[in-house]
Amino acid sequence: MSMLQPFLSGSTTPSFPFKRTVLACCAPSQQSHVAVANGPVLDARVPERTEIRIGLPSKGRMTSDTLDLLEDCQLSVKQVNKRQYVAKIPQLANLEVWLQREKDIVRKLASGDLDLGIVGFDTVSEYGQGNEELVLVHDALEYGDCRLSLAIPKYGIFENINSLEELAQMPQWTAEKPLRVATGFTYLGPKFMKENGLKYVTFSTADGALEAAPAMGIADAILDLVSSGTTLKENNLKEIEGGIVLESQAVLVASRKALIQRKGALDITREILERLEAHLRAVGQVMVTANIRGSSAEEVAERILSQPSLSGLQGPTVSPVLCKRDGKVASDYFAIVICVPKKALYESVQQLRLVGGSGVLVSPLTYIFEEETPRWRELLREIGLSPL
Ligand code: AMP
Repeated sequence: MSMLQPFLSGSTTPSFPFKRTVLACCAPSQQSHVAVANGPVLDARVPERTEIRIGLPSKGRMTSDTLDLLEDCQLSVKQVNKRQYVAKIPQLANLEVWLQREKDIVRKLASGDLDLGIVGFDTVSEYGQGNEELVLVHDALEYGDCRLSLAIPKYGIFENINSLEELAQMPQWTAEKPLRVATGFTYLGPKFMKENGLKYVTFSTADGALEAAPAMGIADAILDLVSSGTTLKENNLKEIEGGIVLESQAVLVASRKALIQRKGALDITREILERLEAHLRAVGQVMVTANIRGSSAEEVAERILSQPSLSGLQGPTVSPVLCKRDGKVASDYFAIVICVPKKALYESVQQLRLVGGSGVLVSPLTYIFEEETPRWRELLREIGLSPL
């Protein structure tokens, strides 16, 4: 099964239509020795240790964004010593956190030295090279967004070239004088060019400042990560139609072998996955409570549901506010509780007022746990286990 293929279509679709599955294509598959009941046959034992290990990015923006997300999921990473690479998440006993370069996380997942990792999808695609040992557990952690994109100069022979097709058809590229592309993505780059029918291409690698390569005459084009597009613009470079190799964001990846064979790995994965999913579901929502005068819960619900932004996730919770009047318990007011998308908050408050709402309270949400975690079910299917 090839998972990378669809990402490398050159389309500009920014979504991740392919959920947690094998990052497969050309890594050599190893010999099988160990059979797992109701699942794939694996090649070797996992390295012996009792702790579960997760790798987190040790550098740059990905580090802070990853630690922030985990903290928001009540999974704060505690580093005993800032200079040490190993840390703990107190809520998850038996989990070791290893702060590593992203590409090393991918390599160590493949070798079994890490069991879980959070990295950019670009890194797992480039360094995983389709290794079936890597399983995508959560494909959209909603940060680290960027795209791997081909860019060419705005000037000279490229002035009127605006698509990959036009670039491919330029008569300048021959076996003797191929298109020279500077990139750090030496696996994905050639694969993309081949899939898009560009025959005469050579690649050179560089560790940074790729954007300068065309101006220096070292390369004709670059293949690099683009986020805001500012760096390209500042260097007089442009992206072209059909030139996006993949869309990326942070993802949670696991070692297939660890999930199947390492005691406790699946339970920790489930907890992290559930917390991530429930948190990411909650991020865009706030909880709104208000009091509304009414004759019955049904009558209040009717009024609330007449407003387009007040239906909540499943419908409003309406409960009587009880007070004592003339010696008897009575309820003139009802408290309503709904979840509202943050973006629609002000609109919702206006609609609440329109139906008689007062004392509106707005609280942030940490988690929204649904009955089921869809990604968990898919993960079990992927590794050949059935849900309990
Ligand atoms: P920008 O100007 O925002 O498009 O950023 C482009 C520069 O930032 C290039 O040098 C890229 O190599 C680098 N870059 C952009 N996004 C990422 C990312 N997610 N991870 C690492 N480097 C990135």
